[in-house]
Amino acid sequence: MHLIDTIYINGQFVTPHGEEWFDLINPSTEQLLGRVRLADAEDARTAIAAAKQAFPGFSRTSRQQRIDWLMAMHHAVAAREDELFEAITLEYGAPVSRGRWMARHASQVLLEATKVLQDYPFKRRAGSAEVIMQPLGVAGLITPWNSNAGFICGKLAAALAAGCTAVVKPSELSALQTQVVTQALHEAGLPPGVFNIVTGRGETVGAQISAHPDVAKLSFTGSTAVGKGILRAGAETLKRVTLELGGKSPVLILDDADFDSAVPMALQAGFMNSGQACIAGTRLLVPAARLAEFEARVQAEVAGIQAGDPRDPHTSVGPMVSGKQWQRVQGYIRQGLDEGARLIAGGEGRPDGVAAGWFVRPTVFSDVHNHMVIAREEIFGPVLAIIPYRDLEEAISIANDTVYGLQAYVFGTDPQRARAVAARLEAGRVQVNTLEHEPAAPFGGFKQSGIGREYGTYGLEAFLEPKAILAAL
Ligand code: NAD
Repeated sequence: MHLIDTIYINGQFVTPHGEEWFDLINPSTEQLLGRVRLADAEDARTAIAAAKQAFPGFSRTSRQQRIDWLMAMHHAVAAREDELFEAITLEYGAPVSRGRWMARHASQVLLEATKVLQDYPFKRRAGSAEVIMQPLGVAGLITPWNSNAGFICGKLAAALAAGCTAVVKPSELSALQTQVVTQALHEAGLPPGVFNIVTGRGETVGAQISAHPDVAKLSFTGSTAVGKGILRAGAETLKRVTLELGGKSPVLILDDADFDSAVPMALQAGFMNSGQACIAGTRLLVPAARLAEFEARVQAEVAGIQAGDPRDPHTSVGPMVSGKQWQRVQGYIRQGLDEGARLIAGGEGRPDGVAAGWFVRPTVFSDVHNHMVIAREEIFGPVLAIIPYRDLEEAISIANDTVYGLQAYVFGTDPQRARAVAARLEAGRVQVNTLEHEPAAPFGGFKQSGIGREYGTYGLEAFLEPKAILAAL
């Protein structure tokens, strides 16, 4: 049983003012695995005050000093990779390969930030003016549960690289990961108050950070509904806001696609992170003339996808994070059936042979119309919709017919044609015949998938404001 009874403020682990205890449940077994004492709005205010006090000194540190600190953070988090992996498996249920990637990603993003910082031009000229890129102030960083450690480290890396100080509000469902990361970051030895980490509820701690006048910048990853509330809360004091929100990403299977590679990649994109991924490719757009062939390949492939115990190396789909999330996904599967979509794999209930845990059967519907709820709303579980199209124009129009615009995928054998299609898609990132990640590339959404970009130079600039100095010679 894990008991977490401290938060991190001003360089110290302290007892929260908040008195609520929150149960941590293992999603693979539904057993209680620990309890966490949550911070409250008062704790959020104390953390903001510490970050405010640390800002004047930290914002004037040299580039090299900040690179050294980011490197120390990188090494400290990397040294705890195994511990973090264990926390991710226990608390979140990520399958082995995904959990390992997530545990490594948390330290990698800190390393990547040092590379960006190394070459970044903080001073430049515009005509006769000197332009200085200046840190914004105190940053409020709010993360979701589906990759909590990576988002804490990624957001902190960009904020600190820029010279901002920070208050992090991690997901209350991810307290174990937060504890491992916080202990590592503490060991990196940054000045007190530069970063503060307060696990608490969104409605209290998150809301306080979003509205507090001493917070200059908000960087939020989570659902579109909460993101809109955060934008409204920050509007009163005109906070700079980065929002990384939901998605309903299209996967365009072009008529010349090679199904040997396209089908496994499409399913991997769809079932990524057990379907709990903002970038999951959940709408599979397939040429009607090749629909039967595609469905047969999908059925054969899904039959080999194991959903169950995340510690089994053959598992690729782990549990949903909570009972609430499991119910929600089951509701969407029922709705797909009610709407008249044709189930070709999976369905309601747990996978065969699984008695406990919030596991969902990897599910694929076909003959889906883009106006159906299962094609429009983010399900956040392993549930995919095959939508047949007649010609390329219709495919592009269906792909763009969504309020979201986070990511898109294109699979086809003619690379030039596939790239030309990519150019017409309304998405912050398009993957053409690959699922590879590029840490230097900007990441973020068009439309209601968000505002702004993270990672690389674009991510750093989200924490900076240009100041022009015009001076007589
Ligand atoms: P969520 O929006 O429920 O919660 C995200 C965070 O916001 C949590 O820390 C939560 O406590 C906090 N929060 C809740 N209410 C708040 C409020 N009123 N004020 C301030 N903070 C508040 O999202 P979730 O369920 O944790 O995560 C799943 C969602 O995140 C999905 O919609 C997914 O698409 C999205 N997501 C987006 C990206 C991306 O980069 N675009 C990445 C991962 C997840």
